[in-house]
Amino acid sequence: MTDGLLRELAIVWPIIFANDFVRYALAASILFGILTLFRRQLAHRRIQQRIATRPDIRREMSYSLSTIFIFSLVGLSVYLGNKAGVFQIDDALPSLSTGLLQFGAFVLAHDAYFYWIHRAMHHPRLFRKFHRVHHLSLSPTPWAAYSFAPLEAVVEAAFLPLFLLVFDTSAIVVLGFTTHMIIRNVMGHAGIEIYPKRWLNWPLLRLITTTTHHDLHHAEFRSNFGLYFTWWDRLMGTEHPQYRQEFAKSCMQNVNADSQV
Ligand SMILES: [Zn+2]
Ligand SMILES: [Zn+2]
Repeated sequence: MTDGLLRELAIVWPIIFANDFVRYALAASILFGILTLFRRQLAHRRIQQRIATRPDIRREMSYSLSTIFIFSLVGLSVYLGNKAGVFQIDDALPSLSTGLLQFGAFVLAHDAYFYWIHRAMHHPRLFRKFHRVHHLSLSPTPWAAYSFAPLEAVVEAAFLPLFLLVFDTSAIVVLGFTTHMIIRNVMGHAGIEIYPKRWLNWPLLRLITTTTHHDLHHAEFRSNFGLYFTWWDRLMGTEHPQYRQEFAKSCMQNVNADSQV
């Protein structure tokens, strides 16, 4: 590796790290701030009675920081791969239709990738080393979005270079995809049902996962492995049998507002 390249990487890596960090910190703190500010008004939408403790939140933050470090190293490898011509990331703005098509492909592919790696990581031989850390959050908070053991963080991060190996994509779409990913991720870990109570009555919208969907996965481990959409769980018979009832309960149940985070 030449001195010039090393100097370049010394400039680029902190930028990639800062990007990943700011994206997580902004998304989690904005949602956490809103939920804390309106905790009394949202008390009836709390999904679980169990409340995350301060040590829970500290653990979620510190593992998320380690994940951001790993994401930034993978981001650096994508930068190098793009420079070497392994990936074709286009800096020019795409047309709206091309951009939307690329974005849709990104999200659908990531949803499928996540479902299957997630199910694989629940295999007894893999769970402890890969996925146990994420499930230490029995009642997650937005800070749990990146709370992964290092091995899981590597598997999660691997999606981006794998996708870029197959599809040529615009840089702006990569940015849009990663932004959408963290927003949906913190929403899934909100602990409060933030979707409208009629969400599951709408045929298309109910294909999009709610907060209760992922919260049930944290509470019970055995169902709801999907990320953005419900179809993989429905297709593979892994949707929580009481999902609709639990969603309805999350939108209506009353708990003591003083016990909120
Ligand atoms: Zn989770
Ligand atoms: Zn899991």
